[in-house]
Amino acid sequence: MIIIMMGAQGTGKGTVAGIISESTGIKQLSTGDVFRKNIKEQTPLGIEANKYIAKGELVPDDVTVPMVVGYLDSDMAKDGIILDGFPRTLEQAEKLDEILTERGKKVDLVINLTTPREEIIDRILTRRVCPNPSCKTTYNLKLNPPKVDGICDKCGTELVQREDDSSAEAINQRLEIYENKTAPLVEYYAKRGILRTEEVSSRINRMGKEVAEEIIKDLK
Ligand code: ADP
Ligand code: ZN
Repeated sequence: MIIIMMGAQGTGKGTVAGIISESTGIKQLSTGDVFRKNIKEQTPLGIEANKYIAKGELVPDDVTVPMVVGYLDSDMAKDGIILDGFPRTLEQAEKLDEILTERGKKVDLVINLTTPREEIIDRILTRRVCPNPSCKTTYNLKLNPPKVDGICDKCGTELVQREDDSSAEAINQRLEIYENKTAPLVEYYAKRGILRTEEVSSRINRMGKEVAEEIIKDLK
């Protein structure tokens, strides 16, 4: 099963994807996490990607697409995959369809998470992540704090704030790109009848965990 997570920054895509992944065994691929790991290790891919990520811009397709294809063709994707952070543009979505068609596969479900704009900025600023590459759990200081201040519940690593989450400029830049380039994909997948939109917000007191559990129930 091939699932795509959509939704602006801070809506909880990674969290929802993680819960679905744990429950179904389908692996989660977060392009942002892959880039951050490569940046940390200073690989050629990481050095190239960081030129864009630090500014809140999209990494070019000639870097991003081959990287994703590599994972799609790996053992990791043998039972399907949950894509978190890809596709992000119409070009990437079309490319993905092409790649999947060549392999006799297709996108089965697109989960679109929505959160009111005013809540989003607050959620990004209070987001903290576990930097341990084999954990990467995301927390929120207000909505989903770790049990011990500043420490990951799952692996004990000290939590950090992502560099692009601490600058208002980079956050606004990313949200703008989302509106202009990524949001049109909602329509692209809606036309195909595979879109599932869910609001995640304190306004209606509905957190990512509940949404994930409902989706898992429907998948079984
Ligand atoms: P966010 O959704 O909060 O911006 P991500 O972890 O998904 O964070 O991505 C971090 C950064 O990695 C993005 O701002 C962008 O620069 C880059 N990136 C991730 N996925 C893609 C993609 N599919 N295409 C281009 N750039 C990407
Ligand atoms: Zn951890």
